[in-house]
Amino acid sequence: MSWETVIGLEVHVQLATHSKIFSPSPNGNAETPNTHIHAIDLALPGTLPMLNKAAVEQAIRFGLAINARINPVSVFERKNYFYPDLPKGYQTSQTSQPIVGPATLEITDANNQTKPVRIHHAHLEEDAGKSVHDQLANATGIDLNRAGIPLLEIVTEPDMRNAQEAVAFAKKLHAIVNDLGISEADMSQGNMRFDVNISVRPHGSDTLGTRTETKNLNSFKFMEEAIELEVARQIDVLENGGDIHQETRLYNSQTKTAKAMRSKENANDYRYFPCPDLLPVHVDQTLIDQLRQSLPELTGDRITRLQHQYQLSPYDASLIGENAALCSYFEAVVSHMSDAKLAANWINGELAAALNTREISIQQSPINPERLAALLTRIQDSTISGKIAKTLFEHMLENDSDVDILIKQQNLQQINDDDSLLALINTIIEQNPQQVTNYQQADDNKRKKMLGFFVGQLMKATQGQANPSTANKLLLKRLNASSST
Ligand code: ADP
Ligand code: MG
Repeated sequence: MSWETVIGLEVHVQLATHSKIFSPSPNGNAETPNTHIHAIDLALPGTLPMLNKAAVEQAIRFGLAINARINPVSVFERKNYFYPDLPKGYQTSQTSQPIVGPATLEITDANNQTKPVRIHHAHLEEDAGKSVHDQLANATGIDLNRAGIPLLEIVTEPDMRNAQEAVAFAKKLHAIVNDLGISEADMSQGNMRFDVNISVRPHGSDTLGTRTETKNLNSFKFMEEAIELEVARQIDVLENGGDIHQETRLYNSQTKTAKAMRSKENANDYRYFPCPDLLPVHVDQTLIDQLRQSLPELTGDRITRLQHQYQLSPYDASLIGENAALCSYFEAVVSHMSDAKLAANWINGELAAALNTREISIQQSPINPERLAALLTRIQDSTISGKIAKTLFEHMLENDSDVDILIKQQNLQQINDDDSLLALINTIIEQNPQQVTNYQQADDNKRKKMLGFFVGQLMKATQGQANPSTANKLLLKRLNASSST
């Protein structure tokens, strides 16, 4: 039997607000445990939570960026459960009336086809504290610095069919969150955490299999590994006549194994009810319009624009469009010269390699857009060859003199002048009588290949500075002419 994988994701994004979602405690890393806490975070008697407007605004900006409906009224509810890092005994969350309604995001699947992934909703909630098992002898510590950090939880429909699609979706979401600046979005720091729901079913079946949920994956690589491992496990269990239990699993990226943590609760075990301490959230159109104005260009839109506006290939456009700063650099270069394709080749080629070796970002590039444009302009107007330009580029990384001055100083101008090239060609022909005879006795096909020898000699004689197309033209003319003499 062949199996189909079904995947749905739940993504937790820590929102980058100054303070927590319901209290004035700072939202950020603290050296010392339990220093970023306020009586409200613990729901001590007599305290009342107060909703952080910035968290609501960031959730709305996310919703607008994915073209989702922004619900005019959303409601905070209490999700009741017992856990040591949750001293309140409940997590304040949203369930039946979340702030962000349904949407669809498109990903590119393994066959390079566009595929829609539906987002069921996104809701606001608070993060929990942490149990610390490795710092106290024979005891577990509780650190509540994280308790109450605002989270946006994004829940998809079970629309992904393999690990690559899930990773493509996760990357897309990560890029959007990053572009919007609503989170630090550093996965290794847990700013963005992925829970992966996985089931398998016989190919062609339209009922869903029982799923498991692998929690808190914090890198795209681990996500892919964890999915592949779990799919293989489920198929193995089913093919051996067993059943899949609905459970929460934990993936260990070091041992590349996973284990069951607990059997999964159903929604009704949480006894959700509207939090009596918090009013429903009303979002009016004025706020939505205002926040829409503040949206930056998103990566996907940027990549499409680069293809249309500058006729870049999808490949070049995605390399450049992936990064807003790189895109501005590219556009600055193109505003000073006219060949966008040439600029993209150099930015994705020489410049990317140079930044990579130096481990620096485009903002720290030793060559600014104006200077790169000046270099490329000298290729365009045939002052220098592409090859010489690469040598010059290396100088420019170390030396910030003007491009034209460097060309003069180092005597790098391309030789475009027919007379000086012809003089050199005559010498080469005199010095290589045998090659000339061979050439002249050869048929057209062979001649084409043999021409390379003469071009090579001329390049050597000019230290690569002969204009290649002039060199070819003159050599052909000279060799063909001397065959008739
Ligand atoms: P719960 O209420 O228990 O959290 P949901 O129905 O909200 O469950 O689904 C949670 C996540 O699990 C969603 O991302 C959803 O797409 C995914 N999911 C639900 N059923 C399956 C299934 N059979 N296989 C894979 N993913 C599933
Ligand atoms: Mg859920």
